[in-house]
Amino acid sequence: MLNFDNTYNKLPSQFFKKSKAASSLNPQLVAWNDNLFQTLSASNKNLPLKDILSYFSGQSLIPGSEPVATVYAGHQFGHFNPQLGDGRALLLGEVLANDHRRYDLQLKGSGPTFYSRGGDGLSPLGPVLREYLVSEAMFYMGVPTTRSLCAVTTGQTVYREQPLPGAILTRVASSHIRVGSFEFFAAQGDVDNLQTLADYTIKRHFPENKKSNELLYWQLFLAIAQLQIQLVPKWLGLGFIHGVMNTDNTSICGETIDYGPCAFMDSYKSNQVFSFIDQQGRYAYNQQLNIVLWNLSCLANALFPLFLTECGHKAECIKKLESQFEVFSAQLEQEYLQVMCQKMGIFKAQPQDKKIVDEFLLILEKENQDFTNSFRELSYGKVKEADFEKKWLNRLGQQQESLEESKKLMQSCNPYLIPRNHLIQKSIEQSLAGDYTFFHLLNQAWQKPYEQNLKYKDLSLPPEKHEEIKNTFCGT
Ligand code: AMP
Ligand code: MG
Repeated sequence: MLNFDNTYNKLPSQFFKKSKAASSLNPQLVAWNDNLFQTLSASNKNLPLKDILSYFSGQSLIPGSEPVATVYAGHQFGHFNPQLGDGRALLLGEVLANDHRRYDLQLKGSGPTFYSRGGDGLSPLGPVLREYLVSEAMFYMGVPTTRSLCAVTTGQTVYREQPLPGAILTRVASSHIRVGSFEFFAAQGDVDNLQTLADYTIKRHFPENKKSNELLYWQLFLAIAQLQIQLVPKWLGLGFIHGVMNTDNTSICGETIDYGPCAFMDSYKSNQVFSFIDQQGRYAYNQQLNIVLWNLSCLANALFPLFLTECGHKAECIKKLESQFEVFSAQLEQEYLQVMCQKMGIFKAQPQDKKIVDEFLLILEKENQDFTNSFRELSYGKVKEADFEKKWLNRLGQQQESLEESKKLMQSCNPYLIPRNHLIQKSIEQSLAGDYTFFHLLNQAWQKPYEQNLKYKDLSLPPEKHEEIKNTFCGT
């Protein structure tokens, strides 16, 4: 059924603790991603409902699964915490999938582990539904992300400010190695295990680096950095605010991970923040590129002992890093500009295009316009400001591609539908009242975000004043 081939649990004992899921009382299925299961599964047989419920609620073990909770550290809102780890998650193991790739399978909300630090290891239904919806929508919008295979309610009550139904999400990821995984061993001065983790990461995620055999760890750092530089500008292009870009939530394989208080903005505001816990705006929309650099500097710090073995002189190594960060910074700007230019129908961004992008964004901000819909309208050629329209058409006229080709490009990267906050909220409220119809409708609609399907017109509209969501919560 699922072809397990576990490697992380063969690493030294400091990397994880063997663990078990708390047994669910009365699991009920909320969502099952059969498409994803068919990719993961070695046979094309369907999994009977009773097995789905039993395996993905933690009641019984899937043959081949050897569950562990993994350890990591992390910088949370700028402050280092030397000991985090899977406190409400359980790595079931690694599956060799039909697409010849290896995936981690993880239960989230399956009870306490060695790393729970006083937490209950459980998850209420709301955050599980949110992560299920948004991670799948991200996938269909074309952004690297962890995915959701299954959501079940457990029959157990989870106590937060109020009693809530407990739930478990089965998350699928290329791996769960984070910047914080490296920081854990670095902070302990455990260079042996740091190197073991680096070697493991190279073998698992960047095997082509191994062949060059030169500056292995430096190359590893560059490769991880490139994936972040590719990823985060895509978020900006969609108006996505992650909300908790801590280093323990920064996946080294470049996938969006941990959909806690994340949100897509409706009307454009450059420094938009939704997360209630982010009072300082550290992870505001327009801070996210800077935070990539900040998080990469944490990774560089952690890997530094390994760089030294390759580079020799400390001062030389630091100099090299400094100039590398200038390169990263320029790359991020360039990548961001390219993403935004394509949204405006410009195939190849030129440095001077920053002006036209900024001008459009300024109009949106001043007029409180919806980010997603304004770009979508632009892709139909609709612009409100005559002055701006002239400049824009003039710019499009300078490229070889026709206006029609530009519009096509724009419609392929300006979504018609995004996971709007108020819709997620409404689906959670209805689900908590026992009606999952709207949750499933959203899940279905968001599989084709770039298609203008009038059947879903309501889902494309920004919230009415009374529907607006100002704050999002981790809800863990
Ligand atoms: P997050 O930033 O939400 O990814 O979580 C940060 C850390 O807190 C991770 O190590 C989690 O495992 C842990 N954590 C969050 N919620 C809980 C919970 N309910 N019980 C135990 N640990 C938790
Ligand atoms: Mg996390």
